[in-house]
Amino acid sequence: MDRKKFVAIYVATFFFVFSLSYLKGEQSVYQSIRIFYPSISDIKIVGSIGIPLDHISGKEEYYMDIAVTSSQTSYLQEMGLDLEVLVEDMSKYFQERSLPETQRDFPLGSMQGNYTWDELNTRFDELREIYGSIISERLTLGQSVEGRDIWAFKLSDNPSIDENEPELLYTGLTHAREPLSMMNLIYFVQELCEGYNINEEMTYLINNRELWFIPVVNPDGYVYNETYQPNGGGMHRKNRLNTNCGDNTERGVDLNRNYGYGWGANNTGSSSNPCSDTYRGNSAFSEPETQIVKDFVESRSFMNVLHYHSYGNYYIHPFGSGNLPEDPDLTTFREIGNQMAKENSFVVGTGQETVGYTVNGDAVDWTYGNQGLITFTPEVGTSNDSFWPSENRVIPLCDNQVHANSVFAFISGNDIILDGVEFSERFFEPGDTVNVSIQIQNRGLLDSDGGVTVKIEQLNSLIILPFDSISVGTLESRASDMISFNFFISNTSDTGSKSGFIISAYDQSSFMRYDTVSFFIGYPELLFFDDFEEGLDNWQFEGDWGLSNFSYSGNWAIGNSPNGNYDNNQNTQIVLEFDSGFMFFDGLNISYKANWEIELYDDFVQFQAYVPNEGWISLHGKHTTLGSGQQGQPWKSPGYHGSSDGWVEEIILMEQLNNLIPTKFRFVFVSDTYGNADGFFVDDFGISGHPNLIPGDVNMDTFVNIFDIINLADIIQSNSYEQNLIYVQDLDRNGIVNIFDLINLINQIMGYQ
Ligand SMILES: [Zn+2]
Repeated sequence: MDRKKFVAIYVATFFFVFSLSYLKGEQSVYQSIRIFYPSISDIKIVGSIGIPLDHISGKEEYYMDIAVTSSQTSYLQEMGLDLEVLVEDMSKYFQERSLPETQRDFPLGSMQGNYTWDELNTRFDELREIYGSIISERLTLGQSVEGRDIWAFKLSDNPSIDENEPELLYTGLTHAREPLSMMNLIYFVQELCEGYNINEEMTYLINNRELWFIPVVNPDGYVYNETYQPNGGGMHRKNRLNTNCGDNTERGVDLNRNYGYGWGANNTGSSSNPCSDTYRGNSAFSEPETQIVKDFVESRSFMNVLHYHSYGNYYIHPFGSGNLPEDPDLTTFREIGNQMAKENSFVVGTGQETVGYTVNGDAVDWTYGNQGLITFTPEVGTSNDSFWPSENRVIPLCDNQVHANSVFAFISGNDIILDGVEFSERFFEPGDTVNVSIQIQNRGLLDSDGGVTVKIEQLNSLIILPFDSISVGTLESRASDMISFNFFISNTSDTGSKSGFIISAYDQSSFMRYDTVSFFIGYPELLFFDDFEEGLDNWQFEGDWGLSNFSYSGNWAIGNSPNGNYDNNQNTQIVLEFDSGFMFFDGLNISYKANWEIELYDDFVQFQAYVPNEGWISLHGKHTTLGSGQQGQPWKSPGYHGSSDGWVEEIILMEQLNNLIPTKFRFVFVSDTYGNADGFFVDDFGISGHPNLIPGDVNMDTFVNIFDIINLADIIQSNSYEQNLIYVQDLDRNGIVNIFDLINLINQIMGYQ
């Protein structure tokens, strides 16, 4: 930064502080603004006036969207930042756009679906009344600045007893304008309670864990928001300590900058200005709210902690400075984070890697750095959802965390999982000996409870296993083991029949999971194949899709942008019409070689099947991940982004269509306004399956005999063959059903072949 600009910041900050709206006694209007092409010095300017950079959205190098007061907007404009006001008044915007929820299984509150402080207290009492045998009483931990009780509760069997079970903690509403950080916890609690003695996972967690919740760390800030915006949309973030900034949103300490690890390390990750939204307080743990969390964590033996916030679709792990934890912890953070993100595609990483900016004095840094616990800051909701999502988004967003919250509870203790299965060959024939490797992991934070057993049960008698269980000894926390053995495919099994086994890996007290691994016996029949060497005749293409000489085999492949990087704002496709007799094949699969560089989280390629009356259905394969819900990525829908690191073989199993019969397939590509990459390439596209009809069994009575000859003669004479029965009728496999197929069939029946 040049010296002149540096001086200017300080002078302007000075005026800024003294031109705040509190001097006029008015409530601050919060705006959403977009800063284009933010430079490091721009970000410093933003950080230096205490604009929080922890719940923002944007795209590195292109733009960032932040929530600021209208006076901060003016200040940033004066400082010469290139910006656009996206939303003039966020509170008003949140209220006006909110659409009501119609589903009422989960009772919603009166602030755009979120509970007020009183409603939350009542809701807890109701849950406790119904589920008192598994929910503890309220445990008052202490009082906030304004004297409200900060309370915790526990979910477990025998909730009044401190049992010797792994315990973990979930906290919500540290920042008062992030109601989903609390709502998702109450939703999870209701799921656990309703699932107790019904759902095996929920029952196990309640019987074998102690799940602690502090639903509201910052009740004063939350009550302030509901006081000045009773219908939701309040933008106050901090606690309500009087920091001599008037009565409005400028007042208070940012609780997530007040923890003791790296407190006040610099003025970009937190602010020393008492009226700033990221004011860190007088000293570490100066605030009763953070002191209460600290005392509670220190008084118990938590294994792991989630400190919930919103928004951004992230699971942020330490450190706020951007430094990475050392291994093995880094691997633990990455693996557990990605397992939590499996159903919602949240991005896992440090604040620097996800949001792009640093913080200090935050809760996860202290929880890990000081207490040594595995911990994340989940950021619930997309950039579109923002702080106050539309009411009809509250339940989907809560539901979106149930998997992650469950995984996090499982890993508190010993938790044995199947981590991978690999066969020595892709296809096997009757009579083959096949080698299989089974990888298991104790992904939990406690060592296994005694030795681990891997039980393997065959699905049917078409395979022969050498044993039904094997013992692998004790597995330490986070350790893996692999077992490898041969099994046999029965001589009497039919090609095209399905077999496999069910694997469960467990110790004396871990949760017992059953994973089914299945396969079809025999080599499948190829129904369609295109290596693109003969051009694009099979496909209808639009946009920039076309032939590319960047191929896996031969000279040609196809790509969404064969010549250089793809463009912005694309929505293009390449379509294959093919619907030949899918119902007469089992184990149908589509395979192709693919190679891609697609902008992460915003651009997307999807492979889809068209089913009449259903429309296009996105299919998942070995290499797809789920869409982020941002820009070009439909929420939770499978597709490709990031980098494939070279050519990979993709396999799409058609059984995911549940017997729906597709008539077309396509690759569809969507890009957003900013950022692009090399694109998506496909080669060696094939469709194959195991025929479930017998060639020549024209009348489909499972016998090939004289009646089939009569039937086929009729078909040929009336020229009435059906394309989707060609596998049965076209015996010489030349694509036409004619007299030669009849001769072929007669010869077959007469035994001349
Ligand atoms: Zn927050």
